[in-house]
Amino acid sequence: MADSIISARAIWKSFGELSVLKGIDLEVAEKELVFVIGPSGSGKSTLLRCLNRLEEPDSGSIRMDGTEILEKKVDINAVRRRIGMVFQSFNLYPHMSALGNVTLALRHVLGLPRDAAEARALAALERVGLADRVSHMPGQLSGGQQQRVAIARAIAMEPRVVLFDEPTSALDPELVGSVLQVMRDLRESGMTMVVVSHEMAFARAAADRVVFMADGEKLEEGPPASIFGNPRHERTQAFIRQIE
Ligand code: ADP
Ligand code: MG
Repeated sequence: MADSIISARAIWKSFGELSVLKGIDLEVAEKELVFVIGPSGSGKSTLLRCLNRLEEPDSGSIRMDGTEILEKKVDINAVRRRIGMVFQSFNLYPHMSALGNVTLALRHVLGLPRDAAEARALAALERVGLADRVSHMPGQLSGGQQQRVAIARAIAMEPRVVLFDEPTSALDPELVGSVLQVMRDLRESGMTMVVVSHEMAFARAAADRVVFMADGEKLEEGPPASIFGNPRHERTQAFIRQIE
C-alpha cells in the first residue's frame, strides 16, 4: 500500500518450542484505526510488541514509512520515538504528577527544554480531558484518569502511530467509557492507531478494519460490519458468538 505507515510481512515468532506468530501480515494505512481481536493466547500482544521491537521477530519484514526496522543497523530508539504504546497496566511513575509523567520522555528522550516539554505535556493532558488534574499524583487519580495520562504521554511525543494493548481491560466498567471517548477523539483528529481490545461495540463504531487472529495466524480481516455481521471463518464466528 502506497500510504502504509506500517507494512509487516510474514512475521514469525517463537518462544522456545511455542510458535506464537506464524507468518502474520499487517498493513496499517495513515489515519487508519485497525482493531485486532482474537482469543487469549492468539499472539495479539506479541504482534504489537514486534511492531516496535519490544520483541524481536524470528523472521519477516516490518517497514515503517518505507524503512525496514528489523535491520540490525536501524536506530531502534528513533523508531520507538515514532510509535506510541499504551498498555493495559498504565505504567505511570507513582511518585511523579500527571504532568511529570507526561513531561519525562519529552525532556529525556526528545531532549526538549523544561518549558517546551511542559507546554506540550499540558496540551496533551488537555486533549485527554485532564487539564484540571495535571498536578495530581497517579494514586489520586481513577484508573480511567491514569490511563488517560498514559495516552497523553504517548501522544505528547507526536508519534506516527499509537499501539493500544487492551487499554480498558484493567478498568472498572464505569471508567471504560471515558478512555474509549478519548480514543475516539484521537481517531477523529487523524491519529493512526492499532488497537487490541475486547470492546466490540467500540470496534463497530470506530474501527476502519478488524483483524481476527487465532493461534498465531490472521484468519480474517475486513470492515467491522462484515467481520461482526458476516464472518466467513468458522473460528471468527465462534469467537464473536462467545463475546457478544
Ligand atoms: P494474546 O495477547 O493474544 O493473549 P500473547 O501474544 O500474549 O497472546 O501470547 C501468545 C502466546 O505466547 C501465549 O501462549 C503466551 O503464553 C506466549 N508468550 C507470550 N510472551 C511470551 C514470552 N515472553 N515467553 C514465553 N511465552 C510467551
Ligand atoms: Mg495480550
